[in-house]
Amino acid sequence: MIIFQRMEEYDYEELVFFQDRATKLQAIVAIHNTVLGPALGGCRFWQFTSERAAIDDVLRLARGMTYKASVAGLNLGGGKSVIIGNPKTHKTEPLLRAFGRFINTLRGRYIVAEDVGTSTDDMMIIHKETKHVVGLDERHGGSGDPSPVTAYGVLHGIKACTKEVFKTKGLSGLTVAIQGAGHVGYHLARHLSKEGVRIIVTDIYKKKAQQVVDEFGAEYVKPEKIYSVKCDIFSPCALGGILDDRNIRALKCKIVAGSANNQLKSDQYCGKLEARGILYAPDYVINAGGLINVADEMKGYNHSRALHKAARIYKAVTRVIKIAKEEKIPTCAAADRMAERRIERAKKAHTIHGARKKPAIRQIYT
Ligand code: NAD
Repeated sequence: MIIFQRMEEYDYEELVFFQDRATKLQAIVAIHNTVLGPALGGCRFWQFTSERAAIDDVLRLARGMTYKASVAGLNLGGGKSVIIGNPKTHKTEPLLRAFGRFINTLRGRYIVAEDVGTSTDDMMIIHKETKHVVGLDERHGGSGDPSPVTAYGVLHGIKACTKEVFKTKGLSGLTVAIQGAGHVGYHLARHLSKEGVRIIVTDIYKKKAQQVVDEFGAEYVKPEKIYSVKCDIFSPCALGGILDDRNIRALKCKIVAGSANNQLKSDQYCGKLEARGILYAPDYVINAGGLINVADEMKGYNHSRALHKAARIYKAVTRVIKIAKEEKIPTCAAADRMAERRIERAKKAHTIHGARKKPAIRQIYT
Protein backbone atom coordinates (compact mmCIF):
# COMPACT_ATOMS: atom_id res chain seq x y z
CA MET A 1 0.00 0.00 0.00
CA ILE A 2 1.28 3.43 -0.88
CA ILE A 3 0.55 5.31 2.33
CA PHE A 4 1.03 8.85 1.11
CA GLN A 5 -1.23 8.20 -1.85
CA ARG A 6 -3.94 6.99 0.55
CA MET A 7 -3.45 9.99 2.80
CA GLU A 8 -3.49 12.42 -0.08
CA GLU A 9 -6.74 11.01 -1.48
CA TYR A 10 -8.80 12.36 1.42
CA ASP A 11 -6.24 14.85 2.69
CA TYR A 12 -5.22 13.21 5.99
CA GLU A 13 -2.87 15.23 8.16
CA GLU A 14 -1.10 12.57 10.12
CA LEU A 15 -0.72 8.80 10.53
CA VAL A 16 1.34 7.76 13.54
CA PHE A 17 2.60 4.29 14.41
CA PHE A 18 3.43 3.44 18.02
CA GLN A 19 5.38 0.35 19.05
CA ASP A 20 6.47 -0.75 22.50
CA ARG A 21 8.19 -4.14 22.65
CA ALA A 22 8.02 -4.45 26.44
CA THR A 23 4.21 -4.29 26.54
CA LYS A 24 3.65 -5.66 22.98
CA LEU A 25 1.82 -2.48 22.09
CA GLN A 26 1.21 -1.87 18.41
CA ALA A 27 -1.03 1.11 17.86
CA ILE A 28 -1.89 3.53 15.07
CA VAL A 29 -3.39 7.00 15.34
CA ALA A 30 -4.92 8.68 12.30
CA ILE A 31 -5.59 12.39 12.39
CA HIS A 32 -7.72 13.34 9.45
CA ASN A 33 -8.39 17.03 9.91
CA THR A 34 -7.80 19.54 12.70
CA VAL A 35 -9.05 22.67 11.01
CA LEU A 36 -11.97 23.00 13.44
CA GLY A 37 -10.05 21.87 16.51
CA PRO A 38 -8.17 18.93 18.01
CA ALA A 39 -9.07 15.54 16.57
CA LEU A 40 -11.34 13.52 18.86
CA GLY A 41 -12.15 9.87 18.27
CA GLY A 42 -12.35 6.49 19.91
CA CYS A 43 -9.65 3.87 20.32
CA ARG A 44 -10.60 0.55 18.78
CA PHE A 45 -8.85 -2.49 20.31
CA TRP A 46 -9.21 -5.20 17.72
CA GLN A 47 -7.53 -8.29 16.33
CA PHE A 48 -7.17 -7.03 12.78
CA THR A 49 -6.49 -9.62 10.10
CA SER A 50 -3.54 -7.60 8.79
CA GLU A 51 -1.70 -4.32 9.29
CA ARG A 52 -3.35 -3.12 6.13
CA ALA A 53 -6.81 -3.81 7.57
CA ALA A 54 -5.87 -1.82 10.69
CA ILE A 55 -4.62 1.12 8.61
CA ASP A 56 -7.73 1.03 6.40
CA ASP A 57 -10.01 1.04 9.42
CA VAL A 58 -8.24 3.81 11.32
CA LEU A 59 -8.14 6.05 8.24
CA ARG A 60 -11.80 5.46 7.36
CA LEU A 61 -13.00 6.00 10.93
CA ALA A 62 -10.90 9.14 11.48
CA ARG A 63 -12.38 10.79 8.40
CA GLY A 64 -15.88 9.90 9.56
CA MET A 65 -15.19 11.72 12.83
CA THR A 66 -14.24 14.91 10.96
CA TYR A 67 -17.65 14.96 9.26
CA LYS A 68 -19.56 14.09 12.39
CA ALA A 69 -17.93 16.79 14.51
CA SER A 70 -18.34 19.36 11.76
CA VAL A 71 -22.10 18.90 11.23
CA ALA A 72 -22.63 18.71 14.99
CA GLY A 73 -21.23 22.23 15.21
CA LEU A 74 -18.36 21.11 17.48
CA ASN A 75 -14.98 22.80 17.29
CA LEU A 76 -13.28 19.46 16.94
CA GLY A 77 -11.48 17.62 14.21
CA GLY A 78 -11.56 13.97 13.21
CA GLY A 79 -9.22 11.29 14.49
CA LYS A 80 -9.23 7.69 15.57
CA SER A 81 -6.81 5.15 16.99
CA VAL A 82 -6.47 1.40 16.88
CA ILE A 83 -4.57 -0.98 19.12
CA ILE A 84 -3.80 -4.22 17.32
CA GLY A 85 -4.55 -7.37 19.33
CA ASN A 86 -7.27 -9.33 21.05
CA PRO A 87 -8.58 -7.12 23.87
CA LYS A 88 -9.49 -10.19 25.93
CA THR A 89 -5.94 -11.58 26.02
CA HIS A 90 -3.70 -8.70 25.02
CA LYS A 91 -4.98 -5.81 27.13
CA THR A 92 -2.85 -5.00 30.20
CA GLU A 93 -2.37 -1.91 32.32
CA PRO A 94 1.27 -1.45 31.19
CA LEU A 95 0.15 -1.64 27.55
CA LEU A 96 -2.62 0.95 28.04
CA ARG A 97 -0.23 3.19 29.94
CA ALA A 98 2.36 2.93 27.17
CA PHE A 99 -0.41 3.89 24.76
CA GLY A 100 -1.30 6.86 27.01
CA ARG A 101 2.32 8.04 27.00
CA PHE A 102 2.39 7.88 23.22
CA ILE A 103 -0.89 9.80 22.98
CA ASN A 104 0.68 12.41 25.22
CA THR A 105 3.47 12.97 22.70
CA LEU A 106 0.80 14.29 20.29
CA ARG A 107 0.28 17.14 22.77
CA GLY A 108 -3.48 17.30 22.40
CA ARG A 109 -3.71 17.14 18.62
CA TYR A 110 -5.58 13.85 19.20
CA ILE A 111 -7.97 13.18 22.09
CA VAL A 112 -8.75 9.55 22.75
CA ALA A 113 -12.14 8.11 23.80
CA GLU A 114 -13.55 4.62 24.12
CA ASP A 115 -14.70 2.51 21.21
CA VAL A 116 -15.14 -1.17 20.36
CA GLY A 117 -12.80 -3.17 22.61
CA THR A 118 -12.07 -0.36 25.07
CA SER A 119 -14.00 0.82 28.12
CA THR A 120 -14.30 3.60 30.68
CA ASP A 121 -11.90 1.65 32.92
CA ASP A 122 -9.35 1.63 30.10
CA MET A 123 -9.72 5.39 29.65
CA MET A 124 -9.07 5.81 33.38
CA ILE A 125 -5.78 3.91 32.99
CA ILE A 126 -4.79 5.95 29.93
CA HIS A 127 -5.64 9.05 31.96
CA LYS A 128 -2.81 8.19 34.38
CA GLU A 129 -0.42 9.09 31.55
CA THR A 130 -2.19 11.81 29.60
CA LYS A 131 -4.90 14.41 30.01
CA HIS A 132 -5.84 14.06 26.36
CA VAL A 133 -8.55 11.50 27.02
CA VAL A 134 -12.34 11.67 27.49
CA GLY A 135 -14.96 9.07 28.40
CA LEU A 136 -13.76 8.94 32.00
CA ASP A 137 -15.50 7.59 35.05
CA GLU A 138 -18.33 9.86 36.25
CA ARG A 139 -16.59 10.18 39.64
CA HIS A 140 -13.64 11.74 37.83
CA GLY A 141 -15.62 14.29 35.81
CA GLY A 142 -16.58 11.84 33.10
CA SER A 143 -19.75 12.03 31.06
CA GLY A 144 -21.02 8.50 31.75
CA ASP A 145 -23.32 6.54 29.47
CA PRO A 146 -23.84 8.60 26.27
CA SER A 147 -27.04 6.75 25.25
CA PRO A 148 -29.61 9.08 26.88
CA VAL A 149 -28.02 12.07 25.11
CA THR A 150 -27.79 10.17 21.83
CA ALA A 151 -31.47 9.24 22.11
CA TYR A 152 -32.38 12.86 22.86
CA GLY A 153 -30.52 13.93 19.71
CA VAL A 154 -32.30 11.25 17.66
CA LEU A 155 -35.66 12.50 18.99
CA HIS A 156 -34.86 16.00 17.73
CA GLY A 157 -33.63 14.65 14.40
CA ILE A 158 -36.93 12.77 14.03
CA LYS A 159 -38.82 15.99 14.76
CA ALA A 160 -36.91 17.81 12.00
CA CYS A 161 -37.89 15.03 9.58
CA THR A 162 -41.58 14.98 10.57
CA LYS A 163 -41.72 18.75 10.23
CA GLU A 164 -40.54 18.35 6.64
CA VAL A 165 -42.67 15.36 5.68
CA PHE A 166 -45.89 15.79 7.69
CA LYS A 167 -45.65 19.57 8.28
CA THR A 168 -46.29 18.98 11.97
CA LYS A 169 -44.37 20.28 14.97
CA GLY A 170 -45.19 17.57 17.46
CA LEU A 171 -45.07 13.82 17.08
CA SER A 172 -48.42 12.99 18.67
CA GLY A 173 -50.38 10.36 16.77
CA LEU A 174 -47.44 9.23 14.65
CA THR A 175 -46.11 5.66 14.66
CA VAL A 176 -42.40 4.89 15.12
CA ALA A 177 -40.96 1.41 14.59
CA ILE A 178 -37.77 0.95 16.63
CA GLN A 179 -35.29 -1.74 15.69
CA GLY A 180 -33.22 -2.57 18.78
CA ALA A 181 -34.33 -1.93 22.35
CA GLY A 182 -30.78 -1.47 23.66
CA HIS A 183 -29.27 1.57 25.33
CA VAL A 184 -30.37 4.11 22.73
CA GLY A 185 -33.57 2.36 21.63
CA TYR A 186 -34.87 2.20 25.20
CA HIS A 187 -34.29 5.91 25.90
CA LEU A 188 -35.70 6.88 22.52
CA ALA A 189 -38.88 4.93 23.31
CA ARG A 190 -39.08 6.74 26.65
CA HIS A 191 -38.94 10.14 24.91
CA LEU A 192 -41.37 9.12 22.18
CA SER A 193 -43.94 7.77 24.60
CA LYS A 194 -43.98 11.16 26.36
CA GLU A 195 -44.73 12.77 22.98
CA GLY A 196 -47.81 10.61 22.43
CA VAL A 197 -46.22 8.41 19.78
CA ARG A 198 -47.44 4.89 19.01
CA ILE A 199 -44.34 2.68 19.31
CA ILE A 200 -43.64 -0.63 17.60
CA VAL A 201 -40.48 -2.34 18.85
CA THR A 202 -38.32 -5.35 18.22
CA ASP A 203 -35.10 -6.84 19.53
CA ILE A 204 -33.35 -10.15 19.00
CA TYR A 205 -33.52 -10.44 22.81
CA LYS A 206 -37.27 -10.41 23.39
CA LYS A 207 -36.77 -9.46 27.05
CA LYS A 208 -35.33 -6.08 26.05
CA ALA A 209 -38.24 -5.33 23.73
CA GLN A 210 -40.64 -6.55 26.42
CA GLN A 211 -39.33 -3.86 28.79
CA VAL A 212 -40.29 -1.20 26.24
CA VAL A 213 -43.71 -2.88 25.82
CA ASP A 214 -44.29 -2.96 29.59
CA GLU A 215 -43.01 0.54 30.38
CA PHE A 216 -44.18 2.52 27.36
CA GLY A 217 -47.11 0.53 26.00
CA ALA A 218 -45.27 -0.38 22.78
CA GLU A 219 -46.33 -3.20 20.46
CA TYR A 220 -43.86 -6.02 19.86
CA VAL A 221 -43.07 -7.53 16.46
CA LYS A 222 -40.56 -10.24 15.59
CA PRO A 223 -37.18 -8.94 14.36
CA GLU A 224 -37.74 -9.99 10.73
CA LYS A 225 -41.10 -8.14 10.64
CA ILE A 226 -39.80 -4.71 11.65
CA TYR A 227 -38.96 -3.61 8.09
CA SER A 228 -42.45 -4.22 6.74
CA VAL A 229 -44.64 -2.88 9.55
CA LYS A 230 -46.81 0.04 8.59
CA CYS A 231 -45.41 3.09 10.36
CA ASP A 232 -44.50 6.73 9.78
CA ILE A 233 -40.88 6.48 10.92
CA PHE A 234 -38.54 3.51 10.91
CA SER A 235 -35.81 4.01 13.52
CA PRO A 236 -32.81 1.66 13.22
CA CYS A 237 -31.14 1.53 16.64
CA ALA A 238 -29.38 -1.83 16.40
CA LEU A 239 -26.82 -2.76 13.78
CA GLY A 240 -25.28 -1.20 10.70
CA GLY A 241 -25.63 -2.36 7.08
CA ILE A 242 -29.36 -3.10 7.34
CA LEU A 243 -30.62 -0.86 4.53
CA ASP A 244 -30.15 -3.00 1.44
CA ASP A 245 -32.35 -3.63 -1.64
CA ARG A 246 -34.58 -6.18 0.07
CA ASN A 247 -35.19 -4.25 3.27
CA ILE A 248 -35.69 -0.92 1.50
CA ARG A 249 -38.31 -2.57 -0.74
CA ALA A 250 -40.13 -3.84 2.35
CA LEU A 251 -40.32 -0.47 4.13
CA LYS A 252 -43.78 1.06 4.62
CA CYS A 253 -42.67 4.33 6.20
CA LYS A 254 -42.01 7.89 5.07
CA ILE A 255 -38.89 8.52 7.18
CA VAL A 256 -35.82 6.53 8.27
CA ALA A 257 -34.19 8.13 11.30
CA GLY A 258 -32.29 6.22 13.96
CA SER A 259 -29.07 5.96 15.91
CA ALA A 260 -27.32 2.97 14.33
CA ASN A 261 -23.95 3.67 12.71
CA ASN A 262 -23.54 2.93 8.99
CA GLN A 263 -27.20 2.03 8.43
CA LEU A 264 -26.85 1.95 4.65
CA LYS A 265 -25.25 -1.10 3.10
CA SER A 266 -23.42 1.38 0.89
CA ASP A 267 -23.78 5.06 0.00
CA GLN A 268 -25.88 4.36 -3.12
CA TYR A 269 -28.76 3.22 -0.89
CA CYS A 270 -29.34 6.79 0.22
CA GLY A 271 -30.54 7.56 -3.32
CA LYS A 272 -32.62 4.37 -3.33
CA LEU A 273 -34.49 5.48 -0.23
CA GLU A 274 -35.11 8.85 -1.83
CA ALA A 275 -36.38 7.14 -4.99
CA ARG A 276 -38.94 5.32 -2.83
CA GLY A 277 -40.07 8.66 -1.41
CA ILE A 278 -38.49 8.01 1.99
CA LEU A 279 -36.62 10.79 3.77
CA TYR A 280 -33.36 9.51 5.26
CA ALA A 281 -31.71 11.30 8.19
CA PRO A 282 -27.99 10.58 7.67
CA ASP A 283 -26.78 8.46 10.58
CA TYR A 284 -23.74 10.50 11.50
CA VAL A 285 -25.85 13.66 11.73
CA ILE A 286 -28.68 12.29 13.82
CA ASN A 287 -26.58 10.11 16.16
CA ALA A 288 -24.01 12.79 17.06
CA GLY A 289 -25.38 13.08 20.61
CA GLY A 290 -22.84 10.52 21.83
CA LEU A 291 -19.96 12.60 20.50
CA ILE A 292 -21.52 15.81 21.80
CA ASN A 293 -21.83 14.20 25.23
CA VAL A 294 -18.25 12.98 25.49
CA ALA A 295 -16.83 16.18 24.00
CA ASP A 296 -18.52 18.14 26.77
CA GLU A 297 -16.04 16.62 29.23
CA MET A 298 -13.39 18.89 27.82
CA LYS A 299 -15.14 21.86 29.45
CA GLY A 300 -15.97 20.05 32.70
CA TYR A 301 -18.98 17.85 32.02
CA ASN A 302 -22.43 19.36 32.34
CA HIS A 303 -25.34 17.04 31.48
CA SER A 304 -27.88 19.82 30.83
CA ARG A 305 -25.46 21.56 28.47
CA ALA A 306 -24.86 18.28 26.62
CA LEU A 307 -28.63 17.76 26.21
CA HIS A 308 -29.05 21.35 25.06
CA LYS A 309 -26.37 20.86 22.41
CA ALA A 310 -27.85 17.52 21.33
CA ALA A 311 -31.19 19.27 20.73
CA ARG A 312 -29.41 21.30 18.03
CA ILE A 313 -29.45 18.14 15.93
CA TYR A 314 -32.92 19.40 14.93
CA LYS A 315 -31.27 22.34 13.15
CA ALA A 316 -28.53 20.18 11.67
CA VAL A 317 -31.03 17.73 10.13
CA THR A 318 -33.21 20.62 8.92
CA ARG A 319 -30.17 22.14 7.22
CA VAL A 320 -29.24 18.84 5.59
CA ILE A 321 -32.77 18.53 4.18
CA LYS A 322 -32.61 22.10 2.87
CA ILE A 323 -29.29 21.52 1.08
CA ALA A 324 -30.59 18.24 -0.37
CA LYS A 325 -33.67 19.97 -1.78
CA GLU A 326 -31.87 23.06 -3.08
CA GLU A 327 -29.03 21.13 -4.69
CA LYS A 328 -31.14 18.14 -5.74
CA ILE A 329 -28.91 15.59 -4.08
CA PRO A 330 -29.60 12.76 -1.60
CA THR A 331 -29.46 13.72 2.08
CA CYS A 332 -26.20 11.78 2.61
CA ALA A 333 -24.42 13.88 0.01
CA ALA A 334 -26.00 17.01 1.49
CA ALA A 335 -24.64 16.14 4.95
CA ASP A 336 -21.15 15.67 3.52
CA ARG A 337 -21.33 19.01 1.76
CA MET A 338 -22.51 20.74 4.91
CA ALA A 339 -19.57 19.29 6.86
CA GLU A 340 -17.04 20.16 4.17
CA ARG A 341 -18.31 23.73 3.78
CA ARG A 342 -17.96 24.48 7.47
CA ILE A 343 -14.37 23.25 7.35
CA GLU A 344 -13.70 25.33 4.25
CA ARG A 345 -15.09 28.42 5.99
CA ALA A 346 -12.91 27.71 9.00
CA LYS A 347 -9.82 27.25 6.82
CA LYS A 348 -10.13 30.83 5.74
CA ALA A 349 -9.74 31.86 9.39
CA HIS A 350 -6.81 29.62 10.33
CA THR A 351 -4.73 26.66 9.30
CA ILE A 352 -3.62 23.54 11.18
CA HIS A 353 -4.76 23.25 14.82
CA GLY A 354 -2.18 24.61 17.20
CA ALA A 355 -0.54 26.89 14.66
CA ARG A 356 -2.09 29.86 16.40
CA LYS A 357 -5.02 30.62 18.63
CA LYS A 358 -8.11 30.67 16.53
CA PRO A 359 -11.65 31.92 16.88
CA ALA A 360 -14.48 29.44 17.31
CA ILE A 361 -16.24 28.69 14.04
CA ARG A 362 -19.93 28.19 14.58
CA GLN A 363 -22.03 25.90 12.48
CA ILE A 364 -24.41 28.03 10.44
CA TYR A 365 -27.76 26.35 10.04
CA THR A 366 -29.71 28.83 8.01
P1 NAD B 1 -26.93 -1.72 22.30
O1 NAD B 1 -26.02 -2.87 22.03
O2 NAD B 1 -27.21 -1.33 23.70
O3 NAD B 1 -28.36 -1.98 21.62
C1 NAD B 1 -28.53 -2.58 20.39
C2 NAD B 1 -29.72 -3.51 20.51
O4 NAD B 1 -30.03 -4.03 19.22
C3 NAD B 1 -29.46 -4.70 21.42
O5 NAD B 1 -30.49 -4.78 22.39
C4 NAD B 1 -29.48 -5.89 20.46
O6 NAD B 1 -30.00 -7.07 21.06
C5 NAD B 1 -30.38 -5.38 19.36
N1 NAD B 1 -30.21 -6.02 18.07
C6 NAD B 1 -29.08 -6.44 17.47
N2 NAD B 1 -29.34 -6.96 16.27
C7 NAD B 1 -30.68 -6.84 16.08
C8 NAD B 1 -31.55 -7.18 15.03
N3 NAD B 1 -31.10 -7.76 13.91
N4 NAD B 1 -32.87 -6.95 15.17
C9 NAD B 1 -33.33 -6.38 16.32
N5 NAD B 1 -32.54 -6.01 17.34
C10 NAD B 1 -31.23 -6.25 17.23
O7 NAD B 1 -26.34 -0.51 21.46
P2 NAD B 1 -26.71 1.03 21.62
O8 NAD B 1 -25.69 1.67 22.47
O9 NAD B 1 -28.14 1.17 21.95
O10 NAD B 1 -26.45 1.55 20.14
C11 NAD B 1 -27.37 1.23 19.10
C12 NAD B 1 -26.77 1.68 17.77
O11 NAD B 1 -26.55 3.10 17.81
C13 NAD B 1 -25.42 1.06 17.44
O12 NAD B 1 -25.32 0.92 16.04
C14 NAD B 1 -24.42 2.10 17.90
O13 NAD B 1 -23.21 2.02 17.19
C15 NAD B 1 -25.16 3.38 17.55
N6 NAD B 1 -24.76 4.52 18.36
C16 NAD B 1 -24.88 4.50 19.70
C17 NAD B 1 -24.51 5.60 20.46
C18 NAD B 1 -24.66 5.58 21.96
O14 NAD B 1 -24.60 6.65 22.58
N7 NAD B 1 -24.88 4.42 22.57
C19 NAD B 1 -24.02 6.76 19.83
C20 NAD B 1 -23.91 6.78 18.45
C21 NAD B 1 -24.29 5.66 17.73
